Amino acid sequence: MAKSRYEKYISRKPYYLWKFGDDSVAHAMEPAPTVWADKHVFEGCNSVIEGSNVWADCSLGVRTDGKGTPIHKHPYEEFFLFKGMDPKNPEELGAEVEFWVGEGDKTEKLVFTTSSVLYMPPNLAHFPMHFKNVKKPFQFFVFMPNQGESNPEPIDSRKPSDFGANKR
Ligand SMILES: [Zn+2]
Repeated sequence: MAKSRYEKYISRKPYYLWKFGDDSVAHAMEPAPTVWADKHVFEGCNSVIEGSNVWADCSLGVRTDGKGTPIHKHPYEEFFLFKGMDPKNPEELGAEVEFWVGEGDKTEKLVFTTSSVLYMPPNLAHFPMHFKNVKKPFQFFVFMPNQGESNPEPIDSRKPSDFGANKR
């Protein structure tokens, strides 16, 4: 069969930002995103979407060595989707998520255990994020519409150690 003219619009292989077991994801995220699209995957693409499964306690935004995603903000909006996979109880995430939002004396954490969507408006600082008491694998997606590539701006005034971290 001839190759479709639309083949350029499908990414058939997992796309790993990092390798499993790579030190750059230790204490950050497990596994690395397995589905991913941005302007580097699809020519002309003007959004970013990434998807992963999470199956163990881990954290994102806790590294200070420049690897992984830091505590940050950006001038574009971002969605975080957390989806439990129990067909008999779709509201149950199977884990506890602790998601830090804001800067300075306006810094607060959101905690949830249900299938949820988080919306970060432009320029609202966020992270770190901790996945705790992970009892079942769940799906985790990030979506940045109208933004061709992820471009977080680190916030130096906030240190991950101020917010706890899951040690593995
Ligand atoms: Zn962000």
